[in-house]
Amino acid sequence: MSRPLVADIDLDALRHNYCHARAQAPGSHALAVIKADAYGHGSVACARALEALPAAERPPAFAVASLEEAETLREGGIRSPILLLEGIFEAAELEAVEALSLWMAVHSEWQLEALLAYRPARPIPVWLKVDSGMHRLGFPVEAVPQVWARLAAAPDQATGLHLMSHFATADAADPGECRRQLVRMQALAEALSAPLCLANSPATLAWPEAHGAWVRPGVMLYGSDPLEVPNSASRALQPVMTLRSRIIAMREISPGEAVGYGRRWVAARPSRIATVACGYGDGYDRHAVDGTPTLVAGQRVPLAGKVSMDMLTVDVTDVAEADIGSEVVLWGRAADGTVLFIDEVARHCDTISYTLLTGVLPRVPRRYH
Ligand code: PLP
Repeated sequence: MSRPLVADIDLDALRHNYCHARAQAPGSHALAVIKADAYGHGSVACARALEALPAAERPPAFAVASLEEAETLREGGIRSPILLLEGIFEAAELEAVEALSLWMAVHSEWQLEALLAYRPARPIPVWLKVDSGMHRLGFPVEAVPQVWARLAAAPDQATGLHLMSHFATADAADPGECRRQLVRMQALAEALSAPLCLANSPATLAWPEAHGAWVRPGVMLYGSDPLEVPNSASRALQPVMTLRSRIIAMREISPGEAVGYGRRWVAARPSRIATVACGYGDGYDRHAVDGTPTLVAGQRVPLAGKVSMDMLTVDVTDVAEADIGSEVVLWGRAADGTVLFIDEVARHCDTISYTLLTGVLPRVPRRYH
């Protein structure tokens, strides 16, 4: 038998979550963010699954972070428009942007100059990125009218102009600064009569005011709830990835005996400890604390001891049926339908679902359903 750890990817759940995103923003187009290999789920498989939706429901475009990610999609047969969220990293990439029929963000002066100096056979669709307050990428708000005018005056280079910006705090219960970002962007979009794209997953789920012409959901497509305070829309998301393994060894230990590196977990009672084939060498977070939930035989079972490279240990004292070969779900949906949301696991690791999902390493086979 081969090592039992797999990442099961539920493509119906992905389609459900995408359609759910569209339903939250019925007046907007919904671009599907599938960068970082679709947050670890496999970008080609995910894009194919979404392209297989009926024409009226499928994403009008995908978004990725680099030319390489876009190339992978084109090589995988994906024909939909693809937006490069960070545009090009050097001027020489413009040829490939054109050859692959990509859309590009323009966030910096040098990108603007490179584009305006380029002579494409067909103009390139451009999404002008504005720094409305996050201070990571984008033109300052005051510079945008002039940049917009230069692009609009270069129809051989640029077409389909859009405005985009990114929220810093859309996931917070009180969006605060986010509201100031929205007001700045709405004023700009109105002044320029520009289609606007702002909303990431939390804004798509909880902030209709911010939907604009386009929304740009990422993590919610994979079934993670990005809201600090979940709402009815976020609770309807379905987990896409199930990280699933099996118990490969069992032992009984006495009170006072310790488990694993550093002897962190110490038995307070006679305990049954199960060893599971999954470790930080697979991407399971080593910062997971004792008590981090897993599912064994459909029951919640706590992590007991530090995560090793290839294994972790759980306390199955209260699960009589747990034995060698029993299924263990690290996050996702168990065979009996019980769900362990990745967001709960992430909280026990003092991190966010994004890092857990993108951290599942290539040695974990993805199995598509
Ligand atoms: N837009 C941009 C520019 C991003 O960087 C990201 C994710 O990091 C997204 C959209 C999607 O965000 P989320 O996964 O929170 O929906």
